[in-house]
Amino acid sequence: MSMRELVVLGTASQAPTRQRNHNGYVLRWDDEVILFDPGEGSQRQLLHTTVTATDLTRICVTHFHGDHCLGLPGTIQRLSLDRVAHPVAVHFPAGGAEYFARLRYATSFYETAELRVEPIEADGQQIALRCGTLEARRLRHPIETYGYRLVEPDGHRMLPEKLAAYGIAGPAVGELIRVGHLDVDGRRVTRAEVSVPRPGQRFAFVMDTGLCDGVYALAEHADLLVIESTFLESEAALAAEVGHLTAAQAARVATESGVRRLVLTHFSQRYPDPRRFHDEASAHFDGDLIIAEDLTTVQLPPRRVASGE
Ligand SMILES: [Zn+2]
Repeated sequence: MSMRELVVLGTASQAPTRQRNHNGYVLRWDDEVILFDPGEGSQRQLLHTTVTATDLTRICVTHFHGDHCLGLPGTIQRLSLDRVAHPVAVHFPAGGAEYFARLRYATSFYETAELRVEPIEADGQQIALRCGTLEARRLRHPIETYGYRLVEPDGHRMLPEKLAAYGIAGPAVGELIRVGHLDVDGRRVTRAEVSVPRPGQRFAFVMDTGLCDGVYALAEHADLLVIESTFLESEAALAAEVGHLTAAQAARVATESGVRRLVLTHFSQRYPDPRRFHDEASAHFDGDLIIAEDLTTVQLPPRRVASGE
């Protein structure tokens, strides 16, 4: 069973607090280990987790406000310090290329690691990964901002007892999956007869935005949605003005989008008691609700059961 989980490095917006580091998240998903929005201190937060800089395969930045990217210089230099041998892809809004260039070479260092710099040029840009498709969607914030989602395609789970009943084994199984049918002793066996659908899993990461189409496009049927809830409804007008979400808005998005596990994060330091986010969101969402805490791990929920299984 491959590992799919979210490691939370930090949960504070704008400025860290004594309890909360700047933003930062790692998604482990099969052979991908993706660092999202490394805020200041992300390199040291990693030390408190089971993830090392060497594990990272990819970095995704939503936008170039400090709480989402000031951890880039340390993290990037660490890749070279640790002589990471594999290339690490980096995605960020193309309009922020100048900020990225500065952060990448913020100080002098001996560069050995290979960064594959692949900026996001347009809404809906897709990046093909071995484990699925990484897609960027434009969000609504004062500067160019993209959220991300990772979508695993739907597949099939072969049923060994059915295969055995038809006497199908070895390379014939692969052919049946590829072609969709197989002729056995003069009878055509279809893939549907010996398998059940295996719904793909989805992860979505929505950071720093007012409500917009991109939010819903990313959240749609997410098994795990990580979404900013900077404010509470008492500050709804301020949230709308500065391009942020409230806990109630984020929870309603999750409900309307069929999200299974909801992680709220990116909290304003004006609210010392995280229970207020839980109380507000739980009135609008009755799935799994997690108010993110630094240095915790959130598992992807078990795969959806396909209808008919
Ligand atoms: Zn932010």
